[in-house]
Amino acid sequence: MGETVIPLADLRYTAPVPAIPAQAIPATGLLADALGRPLRDLRISVTDRCNFRCSYCMPKDIFDRDYVFLPQTSLLSFEEITRLARIFVAHGVQKIRLTGGEPLLRKGLDTLITMLADLRTPDGNRLDITLTTNASVLARKATALQAAGLQRITVSLDGLDDAVFRRMNDVDFPVADVLAGIAAAHAAGLGPIKVNMVVKRGTNDQEIVPMARYFRQHFGGSVVLRFIEYMDVGASNGWRMHEVLPSAQVLQRLQDAFADTPLRPLDPTVAGETAERWGWADGSGEIGLISSVTQAFCRDCNRARLSTEGKLFLCLFATRGHDLRSLLRSGASDADITSALAGVWAGRDDRYSELRAAQPAAPADGARRVEMHYIGG
Ligand code: SAM
Ligand code: SF4
Ligand code: SF4
Repeated sequence: MGETVIPLADLRYTAPVPAIPAQAIPATGLLADALGRPLRDLRISVTDRCNFRCSYCMPKDIFDRDYVFLPQTSLLSFEEITRLARIFVAHGVQKIRLTGGEPLLRKGLDTLITMLADLRTPDGNRLDITLTTNASVLARKATALQAAGLQRITVSLDGLDDAVFRRMNDVDFPVADVLAGIAAAHAAGLGPIKVNMVVKRGTNDQEIVPMARYFRQHFGGSVVLRFIEYMDVGASNGWRMHEVLPSAQVLQRLQDAFADTPLRPLDPTVAGETAERWGWADGSGEIGLISSVTQAFCRDCNRARLSTEGKLFLCLFATRGHDLRSLLRSGASDADITSALAGVWAGRDDRYSELRAAQPAAPADGARRVEMHYIGG
């Protein structure tokens, strides 16, 4: 039997250090990439570790006790994260999402939130700061997160049936604790709360209707449940197209189950929104459909992702990053990093989902697609 060779985490993905342009490029807040898309949304992964082993993200057979996670010294410090975030904000970022791995496992996260909450956009506005979590420890942290400056929260929950949920997280974690976390976040005033359900056909699709019913009946309809198509992100989840349940079918199932109060389309709230919004006819809230596979939304994609060790990825399906940590630790000035980042974004032409059908299942050059737990969703 051949041994599985696990590359050193730091060397896992190619990430050249971005060049500092000879001519300084100051931040104007109006950066546009090669396809004319602005930079508005920064997702920061604060840890590559997680206490769940969702099969679509960190399958247990790969992310086992021998798996090499990033060492502490590789992680960006809170000061480094905040310094980079300030530069991103000067370039136009208005929204920051903390993610991971499981972000609530990063020690002292409240401190980072407070530091980020102090940043202001060039117009003097506060940032929209949010966090995506599996909610395993949210019940005891919600109040402190809100006090630190967190405004909103997104909770991942793939089913209400306890057996189905325990199978999905693959660590036997009970659904009741996640529901308690959502209730605590609601009580703490973290709103609007979004709940993300990744739908895998044949695994948890029977939970679509019960989930919709539950969130219509609880929290005054204020929780927005979003159904996400199972994506071919990373290289370890064994993704197959037949396990994707297209959003159109999710919608049909909901319309059939709740025929007396149908869903009606709602206008998008902001440009570049990933979810298509639908509202219940009786006013009992709304749902979202995120059709990452069947309806690409690359055209408006204004998202950048910063890995736990400071590599910038311009697309969820990228195979290479841009090593901002080396730039930071080389003694580069803020002006240097501002110019380098402008150069990187100007060259961005990623649109993987739009091209998915025309691409080989694995990158032709043998490179590995970045894993979701490493850059966050
Ligand atoms: N651990 C946190 C959580 O689960 O909310 C944050 C990180 S997780 C990588 C962020 C989001 O990515 C979650 O909502 C998760 O369901 C989603 N996700 C992970 N793998 C996915 C896949 N293959 N397809 C679709 N969504 C996925
Ligand atoms: Fe962990 Fe989130 Fe990935 Fe599940 S989706 S394994 S909770 S990082
Ligand atoms: Fe954005 Fe890449 Fe997703 Fe397209 S595939 S929406 S470019 S992250």
